[in-house]
Amino acid sequence: MMLYCSSCQVLVKEGGRCPACGKRKLREAQAEDPVMLMTATETKCNQIAAALDEEQIPHEERVCGLEGIASAYAGKGGISNKNIFVPYGRLQEAIDLMQSIGVTHSEVTAPDGKETAEMSPRKRFFWRAVSVVLFILLIWAVVSITDTAAEWLKSLLYS
Ligand SMILES: [Zn+2]
Repeated sequence: MMLYCSSCQVLVKEGGRCPACGKRKLREAQAEDPVMLMTATETKCNQIAAALDEEQIPHEERVCGLEGIASAYAGKGGISNKNIFVPYGRLQEAIDLMQSIGVTHSEVTAPDGKETAEMSPRKRFFWRAVSVVLFILLIWAVVSITDTAAEWLKSLLYS
């Protein structure tokens, strides 16, 4: 059974928690659920869309979040990335098709793909907090070492 986060439209392979939003409210993936096949540049996207059309696999392309918007602003519309979605029921077929047209495997969201290995937003926040604390500790250490050194110098000079 494959779990699915309906708000992010991603398959959840492990952990019972959406890797994108951290939600635990997941349901079983249905054949018609759109899932992300891969991210591709607009140019590559056209090639992929044509191949999917040929196999009559329904698909949908969406400009990637902020990055896409930013590059659209910069007038680089041609190189903005797009996420390609296919129905869950056709995912494996689409992955096989991508391989047969020579779209590299690493770009494809294989069912055992490594995208779940990416840090969840909560985890990322945790590590950011930890690095802030470490930074403060480092500053404190430097300051106290400098203080000690200054005291020591003073004691040398004025004794
Ligand atoms: Zn989600």
